[in-house]
Amino acid sequence: MSSQISQKHPKGLYVLFFAEMWERFSYYGMRAILLLFLLDNIRGGMGMSAAEGAAIYGIYTASVYLLTLPGGWLADNILGQKKAIWYGGIVIMIGHIILAIPAGSGIFFLGLTTVAVGTGLLKPNISSIVGELYPEGGARRDAAFSIFYMGINLGSFLGIAIVGYLGEKISWHLGFGAAAIGMFLGLIVFRIGSARHLTGLGDVPPAAISTPETVAQSSSNKKLGYGLVAVLVAFLIILQTTGTIDMTTAQGLAKGAGVIIVTISASYFLFILVAGGLTRVEQYRVLVLIILFLAISLFWAGYEQAGTSLQIFAERHTQRMIGGWEVPSSWFQNFQPTFVLLFAPVLASLWIYLSSRNLNPSIPVKFAAGLILLGLSFFVMVAASNIAVAGQLASPLFLTFTYFLHTIGELCVSPVGLSSYTKLAPKRYVSQLMGIWFVGASLGNLIAGIFAGGFDEENILQMPALFNQVAIITTGFGLLLLVFWKPIKGWMGGIK
Ligand code: GLN
Repeated sequence: MSSQISQKHPKGLYVLFFAEMWERFSYYGMRAILLLFLLDNIRGGMGMSAAEGAAIYGIYTASVYLLTLPGGWLADNILGQKKAIWYGGIVIMIGHIILAIPAGSGIFFLGLTTVAVGTGLLKPNISSIVGELYPEGGARRDAAFSIFYMGINLGSFLGIAIVGYLGEKISWHLGFGAAAIGMFLGLIVFRIGSARHLTGLGDVPPAAISTPETVAQSSSNKKLGYGLVAVLVAFLIILQTTGTIDMTTAQGLAKGAGVIIVTISASYFLFILVAGGLTRVEQYRVLVLIILFLAISLFWAGYEQAGTSLQIFAERHTQRMIGGWEVPSSWFQNFQPTFVLLFAPVLASLWIYLSSRNLNPSIPVKFAAGLILLGLSFFVMVAASNIAVAGQLASPLFLTFTYFLHTIGELCVSPVGLSSYTKLAPKRYVSQLMGIWFVGASLGNLIAGIFAGGFDEENILQMPALFNQVAIITTGFGLLLLVFWKPIKGWMGGIK
């Protein structure tokens, strides 16, 4: 790996690296203080209950990843990737500026929506342009994605450190303002750098170069899309009018969002399985993609609790005094990017070492390992929360170890998952299935938000049982994958 990384890469990669670094600075920085701001009723926050705040947090983070679907579509059909990244960045920056205005909930929600829309436009397109720098694919492209992943995590590290500090110690809105400055820097890097080093990439929307086949395909896709939206709207109206879900509350809205995400992904998978004109081998590969989709959604549902239940745990139940200084609770979220930066090269070398001995674990085994590590981390939280229930502050080592396990798990599933999606997807569905990969992140984030609703102060006694549930479900799914890894690997039809 290190020899691949040290190979010369095009300068365009570093433009994308720094642009994405600043975008993630703003995203993770703002996200680090978001729930604290929603729950705070002393320093000018929104004073919400944990259930309400966490539901809003879940809807927001889920929307960010769900909006990558229209964001990818706009780039493919109308804007081209470069413009999508540029306009997306501007919209994100405006969103953070709106959040920086201390002017009540209407303005706040407008800011949040604006950031989500902009991120949907930027995020999928900046990742796909990385791939386009290496039309030959192969090891250099993989190495480029590892470098890019470092940029993502360097940005989150700086964002959480700076925005977290400013938000918690000085003022929430100053923190949001710092996020806007980060995105501004990203825009400058992208403007100057892309003019010089990304010429000829992402200028023309791929759909503009269409053949009669792609036109016919896209018109039939459109009809199906409209049909799906109609069915979905009708279903949501039924749920609302029969009182099954009350979408006038934050929690109800979060459940409504869950219905939307699950319906979209289930119908999409069903559509390509039944009507996608797939060969038998391709159908089995899609089955594997469905299993990986479930696994990755579950993985993010636990992992993304860094911003919800684990954030609440850091704030209320963790010993944070060093000398006379109280460490900002949002800084605990920084263990994830820090550990990624430290351990990504280690894991990459481990896979290469194992491959050289023909021992590289298969994709389902890596996913199983990721889920089991995540599950174990929640058993650590069961122990930590028992201390909190006894009325004491838990040692910061519990969260540190929890995040260590999260990150090693992430490194088993996230980079591997993305590339396996591109490899297992039938060729003509690759970009749509990349979108579905982000939908998995959307679903996971939403569940992480809804789940943290149980973490209100008065429910403190339930905390160990709640963490125990996550631990059992994720470890259980991981073990299932481990038991069935051979047949799943068989369904992959020779893809490694
Ligand atoms: N941390 C990675 C990023 O921000 C992956 C996040 C995700 O897909 N949930 O890009």
